Amino acid sequence: MSDVPKITLNDGNEIPQLGFGVWQVPAEDTAEAVAKALDVGYRHIDTAEMYENEQGVADGLREAGVDRDEVFITSKLNNGDHEPDDARRAIETTLEKLGTRHVDLFLIHWPLPSRYGGDFVQTWKALESFKAEGMARSIGVSNFQTHHLDVLEEQCDVTPAVNQIEIHPYMLNHAVAGYNESLGIVTEAWSPLASGELIEEPRIEHIAERLGKTVPQVVLRWHIQKGYVIFPKSVTPERIEENFEIFDFELTDEDIATIEQLDKGEDGRTGPHPDKFDYVPA
Ligand code: NDP
Repeated sequence: MSDVPKITLNDGNEIPQLGFGVWQVPAEDTAEAVAKALDVGYRHIDTAEMYENEQGVADGLREAGVDRDEVFITSKLNNGDHEPDDARRAIETTLEKLGTRHVDLFLIHWPLPSRYGGDFVQTWKALESFKAEGMARSIGVSNFQTHHLDVLEEQCDVTPAVNQIEIHPYMLNHAVAGYNESLGIVTEAWSPLASGELIEEPRIEHIAERLGKTVPQVVLRWHIQKGYVIFPKSVTPERIEENFEIFDFELTDEDIATIEQLDKGEDGRTGPHPDKFDYVPA
């Protein structure tokens, strides 16, 4: 079994650098996929209230027979629950569905520019109290741009432990990743394979062939060498295994430069821009 490196967060807690993401895993298939990932050796699961499969994560843990304390679990506050009282009810429901007394990491999923009068500070203060009360060991944000982080730095006590943002070779997002680093915030790269768009990228094939690896493994390794935390998603058992086998080879500086030439800037985004996205579930 590979040894997944751990990264120390700014609050002293540790996070496994590779995890398993469950966005778009149907609720009824989540337990099986999570149990498979745990059997393979993953010890970090990234879910969210919005994914509607937190219960499946708990079932997968039980099915795999792995101790809750051995697994780093992240969940995220849904977009309709930013008011502090709603946020508290939301984390309590998340803990119930996950069958746990605490999550290891709890994130504000989106900053939502046009909702709640543009105020995410009250929401962040609610998360600060969840951490103080032990419901979340670490707290962080997702899809925050540099200007959102500035507001938290100016008005809040706790610096987010992580900022989970879209990053992959088609969208390097260096400005936000660099800003995270300057503030001591760990970058989590969501959609590390560009939601699957990168898996047949011909401009990486020669690197994969030389190393005896697949294109997805090369891309995931690139993230690891950049220092990002990742959680590729797959419902395919062989791919869940393949994505875990990325710690027995190294990319050269030249490989990394080749991969970064794929950057398309804003055109490379697979998801919405955080300054525009204001979806709230009905
Ligand atoms: P990924 O970049 O992880 O790609 C997943 C897709 O690639 C699936 O279609 C999967 O297919 C396919 N795939 C995975 N591994 C392989 C492989 N080895 N070979 C070939 N195909 C492969 O996309 P996601 O968008 O799911 O992102 C990963 C995680 O990031 C999410 O699950 C979620 O946890 C997080 N996320 C967070 C967001 C946020 O706003 N905070 C937004 C989006 C994602 P298949 O499943 O059929 O095998």
